Amino acid sequence: MDYSQNRQANPNPQPGKKGPGLSTKAIHAGHQPDPHTGSLTTPIYQTATFVFPTTEEGGQRFAGHAPGYIYSRLGNPTVTVFEDKIAELEGAEAGLAFASGMAAISAVLMALVKTGDNILCAKNLYGCSYGFLNLLQERFGITYTLADLSDEMSIRSAITPETKVIYLETPMNPTMLLVDLALVSRIAKETGAYVVVDNTFLSPYLQRPIEHGCDIVIHSATKYICGHGDVIAGVAVGPKAIMDEIRMTTLKDIGGVLSPFDSYLLIRGLKTLVVRMDRHCENAQKVAEYLEAHPQVDRVYYPGLPSYPQYELAKRQMDGFGGLISFEVKGGLEAGIRMMNAVKLCQRAVSLGDAETLIQHPASMTHSVVPADERAKMGISDGLIRLSVGIEDVEDIIADLEQALSLS
Ligand SMILES: *Cc1c(COP(=O)(O)O)cnc(C)c1O
Repeated sequence: MDYSQNRQANPNPQPGKKGPGLSTKAIHAGHQPDPHTGSLTTPIYQTATFVFPTTEEGGQRFAGHAPGYIYSRLGNPTVTVFEDKIAELEGAEAGLAFASGMAAISAVLMALVKTGDNILCAKNLYGCSYGFLNLLQERFGITYTLADLSDEMSIRSAITPETKVIYLETPMNPTMLLVDLALVSRIAKETGAYVVVDNTFLSPYLQRPIEHGCDIVIHSATKYICGHGDVIAGVAVGPKAIMDEIRMTTLKDIGGVLSPFDSYLLIRGLKTLVVRMDRHCENAQKVAEYLEAHPQVDRVYYPGLPSYPQYELAKRQMDGFGGLISFEVKGGLEAGIRMMNAVKLCQRAVSLGDAETLIQHPASMTHSVVPADERAKMGISDGLIRLSVGIEDVEDIIADLEQALSLS
């Protein structure tokens, strides 16, 4: 069985520019019907180890001189299909799958920096990513600097010769602030820093940072890539040389690998990525417009609203505005809690990107232990609510919000 073709760099790293479209790639990339049985769907290779036809062949594989699988922590055929699909969707040369988004983020960052290096990032990173940067700083002497990455001057004044990585998310939680990917990439090229983007909030269908000059893209595949809320997974894509290095160091030796079964579920989820995302965007746009007109709502943060401060950048950089909305209810903490307890269809839960509409209130839930003045500095007001708009009938989502807001 020859899987070596799966291991080669993506020959068409420009999605949308030539070759098949994104929907076609999401369904077909990375997998040929199984050569033994003709199985249309990717088989689940639920095996820890692989048999070498001869001892010499085993030696060749270990030396990296022959293709083929060795042991599932180093690679597995089902996992390979998932990795190749995301690489192709993002327009990258190669991909790596991880047991979680955090496993991907930590493995990528650790592979790129060493003691004395600096990571430049924005405030409001995903909380655990921020926690990991603190760990790197306290335990390993790798510093991080916070800057406003939406502003050219503040990037230029924060970047130093020690800055090895600019690490960012766009849009950013909770105010959906955007970072201009082309601008950051241009500045990074001047100093040789890598630009690493957590693209979880949009999926490769709506934003492909490599097309804007970024180097490495990471996803919490738990979210839109899976789409069904039943897997914890992560993925990173980028230049083959860097991905090979990560595979043989921080992936292999720390060991946060993805299982074949979870890879299978992700491959299955990806087949409907485009139709799901279209519905997420369509529903979120209608919900955002509804909320913006609601007298109980102070403010709505959604890049697809013409009133949104970075609406022009959103249109230029993104192929859609995504499914995440933040909004502020009038009446602060109490009103927020009343609304949260009144929803019936929307589910009180963290995470995002599921078929179900998920609703969360940082001041009373995820950030309840953070003092109010610190929360305010993070842009989290007491009445701020975040919605991951699902793919239900939008009339039903709006009706649920309407009855909950009437009580808040
Ligand atoms: C959820 C999330 C992560 C972490 O991913 P896990 O799969 O939960 O480890 C990282 N970044 C963003 C933006 C996320 O939403």
